[in-house]
Amino acid sequence: MANQDGRREAGLTRREFAGSLMCACAAAALAWPARAQTPSVAQTTPVPSPFPSTAPVTLFRNVRIFDGKGDSVSGPMNVQIRGSVIERITASSIAPEASYTVIDGGGRTLMPGLIDHHWHAMLVRPTVAQLLTGDTGYLNLMAAAEASATLLRGFTTVRDVGGPSFGLKRAIDEGLVAGPRILPSGAIISVTSGHGDFRQPYEIPRTVGAPLSRGEQTGAAMIADSPDEVRLRVREQLMLGASQIKLTAGGGVASPHSPLDVSTFTEPELRAAVEAAENWNTYVTVHAYHAESIQRAIAAGVKVIEHGHLMDEATAKLIADNGIWLSTQTFPDELAEAFPPGSFERIKFTQVVAGTDTTLRLAKKYNIKTAWGTDILFSASLARRHGELLAKLVKWYTPAETLVMATGTNGQLLALSGKRNPYPGRLGVVEEGALADLLLVDGDPIANIKLIEDPERNFVVIMKDGRIYKNLLR
Ligand SMILES: [Zn+2]
Repeated sequence: MANQDGRREAGLTRREFAGSLMCACAAAALAWPARAQTPSVAQTTPVPSPFPSTAPVTLFRNVRIFDGKGDSVSGPMNVQIRGSVIERITASSIAPEASYTVIDGGGRTLMPGLIDHHWHAMLVRPTVAQLLTGDTGYLNLMAAAEASATLLRGFTTVRDVGGPSFGLKRAIDEGLVAGPRILPSGAIISVTSGHGDFRQPYEIPRTVGAPLSRGEQTGAAMIADSPDEVRLRVREQLMLGASQIKLTAGGGVASPHSPLDVSTFTEPELRAAVEAAENWNTYVTVHAYHAESIQRAIAAGVKVIEHGHLMDEATAKLIADNGIWLSTQTFPDELAEAFPPGSFERIKFTQVVAGTDTTLRLAKKYNIKTAWGTDILFSASLARRHGELLAKLVKWYTPAETLVMATGTNGQLLALSGKRNPYPGRLGVVEEGALADLLLVDGDPIANIKLIEDPERNFVVIMKDGRIYKNLLR
């Protein structure tokens, strides 16, 4: 595994990689234990480009473009990046100045960086036990290493729907460590017994004034059992820099005390979260599998449903009629192996996976605004198959529709964070004026979607915010 990861890192220049390693230590030392001291305003205001006013220019020559919106690649084009922005796209030749970095695309495909809409940057690599008992510095370093690997898989933006990723995000934005753009939700907010309550029976009952549970201390999840408690926890995440708020509205797979059929937050509790988020000009998304939890969330003003694998036809129509986003996943069958055979969690996982086909068919039938993400948790090996999980969508969508979902469509959902979007600008598209998050693919991914399954070989250039993180053509 170390060798494989080492090869992945090889895309970074020696200086960048050394910088990543050195500064990840600093990020770890600063980020997690000192969460409360982190200046939050800096995290909610636009992050300045790392480039000085004399912004460097990169010129891609002779590339075919998949723009993140259409169903085909263009003819040969030239694309000029200035600083962090795509400045010019033209079929005419562009004469480079001496200072330009020129990349001869050789007819390869230039496409937007991939976006994972359901990611947990801090929870990808550790086991649950490591998360709840591990040293925070170690966990931050683990997350920083995963962030670099995520970027080198071609994922240039992730929407983080739970976990203490504020410090990691800051370190990435400051250039201390290589990683994707992160839109953080902060702690998952759950009711007592809900999805996200990882307490042991000996920790019950919770008494007023008692210390926070370990999961809450880490910032991974917060427990709230009234509209007032919900408001408090939501506002805390906003203060820390959340770009959207995540609640769990129904049961979940990985939680030990959370049957799938339950609805958790009451409508007034959900409304309290929505009001607090909307006062901050952003939105609430909820984890919800079944119809009742989805319907209640929509009634309370929630804008995005995560998962939705057990919804029925009437709920699909309700989602469509209200213009609600569905952010769903294609869970791999092998994920079942994360849970012991016959266990409560394993049975729940099987029920959820069985619903995938129905949900995606309903999403298509009612033309629901559908975003895609992976929800990879506690599995470094699954994370290495990131692109493969995206390619699974071709069971329901064309290759072009699949790629549009992970680029242009996901980019639209990012904008829902409004003024709390830390990366204002267009993401997920290749067009003039958009942010320069780009992949140069050795082939045509619409003709051969499997190219995205092997990013190490097939993504020959990876650019984020105008900066080159990998270039095999050098
Ligand atoms: Zn999740």
